[in-house]
Amino acid sequence: MNAAPEKALVLLSGGQDSTTCLYWALDRFGQGAVSSIAFDYGQRHRVELECARRVAADAGVAHVCLPIDTFAALGGNALTDATVEVDDRASADSGLPNTFVPGRNLIFLTYAAAYAYQHDIGHLVTGIAQTDYSGYPDCRQATIASLQETLRLGMESDVHIHAPLMQRSKKETVELARDLNALDAMRLTHTCYNGRRPPCGECPACRLRAKGFAEAGIPDPLLADP
Ligand code: ZN
Repeated sequence: MNAAPEKALVLLSGGQDSTTCLYWALDRFGQGAVSSIAFDYGQRHRVELECARRVAADAGVAHVCLPIDTFAALGGNALTDATVEVDDRASADSGLPNTFVPGRNLIFLTYAAAYAYQHDIGHLVTGIAQTDYSGYPDCRQATIASLQETLRLGMESDVHIHAPLMQRSKKETVELARDLNALDAMRLTHTCYNGRRPPCGECPACRLRAKGFAEAGIPDPLLADP
């Protein structure tokens, strides 16, 4: 069994949550022990990948972007398929909104674990949270615990998956970003499901973000300096 070196790999999407997690990892593991990874899965909004790069550069951490083109080929969801309009209401069939990309977080974490294994990194950090979301089943604590166990078995490692936002509301995530001095980096992040900068303010992702900042009583730096 491989030992787990105290290095961390942050799954960085360029959004508010993963950016907060990057600063959580820097606080916990220290500058020099943290790197970040993004996935080009054919997302319609390419701005996400650019935001991830900028957030990483701004924080002074190494960043890699890996291609996964299968999700776009699968189609059928609003994040990779331009013919599907974002709708955060649960569908009658699946009970999930059409922004759910089946398998996405499972695949991301698996590739991240493989990358970490090859680079002697013992800790993965993901911004997924089971609160405040649309009920995505791959954002549940039980899913993450199960996947961690599978990865440990399948890679003969003791990889840790950290999801520091798992039980936090959006308000609490904003407060955490403030406490970690990550608010400044929020101006570089991207949240809007419609891919707009400045954000559209109307899509489910924009509304959730705005609600979190409003409840925390903190102005969103992205809106002050888009
Ligand atoms: Zn929006």
